[in-house]
Amino acid sequence: MPMVILPVAAAAALVMGGCSTDAESTGAASATAAESTTAASVASPTAPASPSSSTSGVTAPATSPTAGTATCDPGATLVETTEGPYYTDGAPSRDTLSDADTVGTPLILTGTVFDAACQPVPGATIDVWQADGAGEYDNSGYNLRGVLTTDAQGRYTLTTVIPGIYPSRTEHIHIKINAPGGPVYTTQLFFPGSTANEDDRIYDEAMLITVDEDSPEQMRATFNFVLP
Ligand code: FE
Repeated sequence: MPMVILPVAAAAALVMGGCSTDAESTGAASATAAESTTAASVASPTAPASPSSSTSGVTAPATSPTAGTATCDPGATLVETTEGPYYTDGAPSRDTLSDADTVGTPLILTGTVFDAACQPVPGATIDVWQADGAGEYDNSGYNLRGVLTTDAQGRYTLTTVIPGIYPSRTEHIHIKINAPGGPVYTTQLFFPGSTANEDDRIYDEAMLITVDEDSPEQMRATFNFVLP
């Protein structure tokens, strides 16, 4: 498993429960201002490139070659990362976080949640929150926030948009995940081929999604979670 090297601020946020407003925007004077100033520069060209353009040489996480084919790599246990400053408790239970008015390229992410023994986990909870395609979070409501539950085969389907970048952060989707009655793990998913990955200190290649389809109209991707 890759080592997780966190910046000082992010490491402190972990120790302190992730409450630091600097956890995701180190060096930014104001997260709100920083996001708004960045929005104009974030457009579809910043969307992750196709997987064929990725040169990361990453050891593949638990992935499947095609959507809907669940494979489990027992060595690909999820890597916990900082919660960051934008989590809101109490998001509605739903698989679809976006609608026609949501800014961003549509993204359909599918996968399976496995336990440490690579057994599918029915009823696992996946609490998702993310920025829209312009790098903006909804911090007053629940846009692009929702709680998914895996089906009897441990599968989930998330319908959302590709998140935009914002200061100090590459494209990412926040996740809190747990098996029924089990501990909650906090992590983030990342996008292969994004040039912003290399400058993001929270980025972890172990949490790269696998892109199965990437067009201007939509992206389809896969990520299989393996719980510790
Ligand atoms: Fe974030």
